[in-house]
Parts: sequence; structure tokens; C-alpha cells
Amino acid sequence: MAVEAYFEDIEDKIIRVLRSSKYSVKICVAWISGKIYTPILEDLANRGVNVELVYDNNSTNLRHGVPLSNKYKTYAIDTRLSSSLMHNKFCIVDDEILITGSYNWSNKAKDSFENIVVIRNEFELIKDFLHEFYDLIAYYDAFSSNYVRKCHCGSNLFNLGILGQESGLYDESKIDVWSVCVKNNHVSHLGEEYAQHLRAQLGMKYEPDWCLETYDKDSMLSEFQQERSRSNSLQNYFNSRSGLRIHAIGTIAMDNWNGHMEWDEEPEYIVNIFWRDMYLRKLIPETLYDDYFGGINEIISDHV
Ligand SMILES: [Zn+2]
Repeated sequence: MAVEAYFEDIEDKIIRVLRSSKYSVKICVAWISGKIYTPILEDLANRGVNVELVYDNNSTNLRHGVPLSNKYKTYAIDTRLSSSLMHNKFCIVDDEILITGSYNWSNKAKDSFENIVVIRNEFELIKDFLHEFYDLIAYYDAFSSNYVRKCHCGSNLFNLGILGQESGLYDESKIDVWSVCVKNNHVSHLGEEYAQHLRAQLGMKYEPDWCLETYDKDSMLSEFQQERSRSNSLQNYFNSRSGLRIHAIGTIAMDNWNGHMEWDEEPEYIVNIFWRDMYLRKLIPETLYDDYFGGINEIISDHV
């Protein structure tokens, strides 16, 4: 592994890394200048490099022009919440070099105090960024297809399944389905569903079969493909089953287990969400905390 930090001539460093690419460039930045980067990205595409660009759909980008071209794919991300941004600034080259830091790929950023780090061959880390990149593209696809329902308060809604214990020969479990509003915790109980072998399907029983000593680019990419395909098959499972639509699966967990056992603290419960619809992943939190008199408390109280 090699890590380098840069605080000066950042644009030049980025362009050098881009030009060194052999087969793929994945860029995910809030702001990017078309004037600077279109010719570079088109050059790469012309010599067969697969270029993909994710950027924030904001007025600055519209005004100054992003590097649009029919030679590569671009995805303008709209965050749906007017005040928030797709604020990432990272780039993956040939699945082995990661550039990340404070620097926006804009003309203005050159005048600011900024940093980037360039990280090579840190494959576990690069895999996380690959997932994020493709999750954002899945999110982009969802936005185009109007996937998200709105609460009466204007916030986004998702259907949360609270997974019960598995029992019986077919590992059957009950799923209580709740409609949850992301911002103001408006909830309503929609009904009950039943599923078989769900924990196995959700990867809760999954053991990676690679050995750490041989974790290289090939093993990372094959593991990455396995994880994507598991996440796609789960997606298909939840899309194709009849009954209530489910966008996320969680369980109720005690957040202060040690304090409760050792100090006799009052138990505090949370909802741990361990599967999220890939199209809604960016809207659904990983953890829902007890809001005491609100909707999340209603869900928790119903299950403990
Ligand atoms: Zn609401």
C-alpha cells in the first residue's frame, strides 16, 4: 500500500493519475469543470478507458458546465432534499488507485486551501468506494423512475420490516411492516408478512471465503461482484414477492447492553437496519433511535 498527501498543484496531480489509467475511471465529485476535464476524459474514452462520472446536480455545475460527452456515461445526482448535496470528492482508477480529499474538481477550488490523498492498492478500502459509487448510480436510476413516496409532511417514506425470530424447519420468520417517514418519524403499522430463510438470504449467516493474506485486486473484485450480486438478488426477492412492499429490514436491539447488565441502567432500544433497498439506500438511515414520544418509540414499544 502507498498513500501520498498533496496540498499544492492538486489539479495537476489528479490529471496525471487520470492519464495513467489503463481501463477504468470512476469519478464522483460535487463540482467539476467541463472546460478542464472534458478533453481529458474524452481522450481517455478514445483510447478505450471506461469513464463514468457522478456529480451533484446543482446550479454551479449548470452555470459553469460539467464535462458532458457522448463518449462516456454521466449521472447528475439530485439529493431530493433541497438543502443537501452529493458532496463526495473521490475517484477510482483501474480499481487500484483511490483519490479522495477536500478538493472539488472546479476552477475555483484552485484558489482555496485544499488536500487530496492518493491511495494505491488498498483493496478493502477501494471496495467500499466501489460500492458507494454503484449505490449512487442505483440511486440515480431510482430518481428517474419516481420510486419514492412522500409523507403528508413532505418528507420521504419507506416501508420498514421488523424481523422476528426464525423458527421451524424452513426458518420461518414474521416481518412486521411499518411505514416510516425519514424526517419526522411519522409511522403507521401496515401489516404482517412471513418469509423463509431470510437471515441466510440477507447475508447474516454469510462467511467470506477469502483468506486475508491473499487479498489482492482479483480477490477484491470477485468479492465485490459476489456482494453486488447478493444485493441484486435480495433486491429482486423483495421486488418480486407479493404482499406488502418492503424497503428495509431491521431488528430491535438493546443499545446499552453492558450498562444494563452491569449498572442496572434502564434498557435503551434502537432499530438496527441491516438491509436497505438499493434504490432507497441513501434515504434510509442505518439506525433508528428511540424518540420516546414519537413514531420510532411506537415501533420499539410494539416489539419489546
Ligand atoms: Zn412525515
